[in-house]
Amino acid sequence: MSKQYRITLLPGDGIGPEIIAVAVSVLKQAGEQLNVGFTFTEALLGGAAIDATGNPLPEETLEACRNSDAVLLAAIGGYKWDNLPRHQRPETGLLGLRAGLGLFANLRPAKILPQLVDASSLKREVVEGVDMMVVRELTGGIYFGQPKGIFATETGEKRGVNTMVYSESEIDRIGRVAFEAAQKRSGKLCSVDKANVLDVSQLWRDRITLLSDEYPDVELSHLYVDNAAMQLIRAPKQFDTIVTGNLFGDILSDAAAMLTGSIGMLPSASLGASGPGLFEPVHGSAPDIAGQDKANPLAQVLSAAMMMRYGLNEPEVADRLEAAVDQVLDAGYRTGDIMSEGMKLVGCQEMGEALLQAL
Ligand code: NAD
Repeated sequence: MSKQYRITLLPGDGIGPEIIAVAVSVLKQAGEQLNVGFTFTEALLGGAAIDATGNPLPEETLEACRNSDAVLLAAIGGYKWDNLPRHQRPETGLLGLRAGLGLFANLRPAKILPQLVDASSLKREVVEGVDMMVVRELTGGIYFGQPKGIFATETGEKRGVNTMVYSESEIDRIGRVAFEAAQKRSGKLCSVDKANVLDVSQLWRDRITLLSDEYPDVELSHLYVDNAAMQLIRAPKQFDTIVTGNLFGDILSDAAAMLTGSIGMLPSASLGASGPGLFEPVHGSAPDIAGQDKANPLAQVLSAAMMMRYGLNEPEVADRLEAAVDQVLDAGYRTGDIMSEGMKLVGCQEMGEALLQAL
């Protein structure tokens, strides 16, 4: 193999081990075809880690992730751990991992695959051809700003406080990720803020506008978040790449994702300034279907494709994985979550075999 990458695998809980096994097999095969090799190391995160060590993010897991070229995560969580104290919950492990790897940029594509247009709750003519990417700032803004908390006032009445704060450098670094993502796509970037009301948003708009001088090949526009929400539902095809802060991005990325109508198809990437990125499906651990060979592994496979494109800069491997997903859908293979009349219902493993065939 001319190139060799170290990948840390975090199968996590629920359907995680089933879907990550599919992603690993297609990665190996596509890699072999293109002379790209992988060394996979498995580590514990979430409920599986709590059961084994009492800690949702064991130190060895963070170390293994830091020492790899990229991290592929399936999903964490489940009923069993829902009532533990917050610091011992599976989600706390995931938040700790994102912080520990300094992942400040979250990339979430929402693409309507022609074979699945009817899975959307919107009309075919509105969503056909939708292909966008939401770039969300992940470690700043109102989720982390100080002061925060619930405080008692002098009268005894309680006040809840959160603070939306962004510094110039925080805006610039997410802005750069977004401009570069737009360059890899069709060269259109829309920045979303609330600059008509919020000072922090005015600074956001000023910095993004300034940055655009460095990216003359990217066409920049701005929208207020309320209008952006309307436009996403009214005419989603106008968007290519969207960049926004943590809170607005949290909401808009879910809205954009749901244009596609199928949670089992949605990948994501989280990137830092340097070091390994984290690649994972948007969906959770689906404990209701875990261990039954019913899970859709395609979001996990598309997350592996994002890992190759955005994490390891191996777009040819990414193209091949995406083409394989396209082919199995063309051939009519469907897991239960995306099943429709006349298609061939398969389980997770059979979908994996169909992908290998397509490759
Ligand atoms: P979920 O995404 O796990 O499931 C929602 C619904 O979608 C379920 O009916 C499930 O069966 C279905 N589904 C999800 N992924 C699927 C797939 N690949 N194939 C077929 N069907 C699929 O969300 P939830 O039920 O709200 O949460 C379950 C657990 O997952 C919770 O413990 C939650 O905290 C956790 N969770 C983890 C992540 C993550 O790891 N990043 C994200 C969201 C939720």
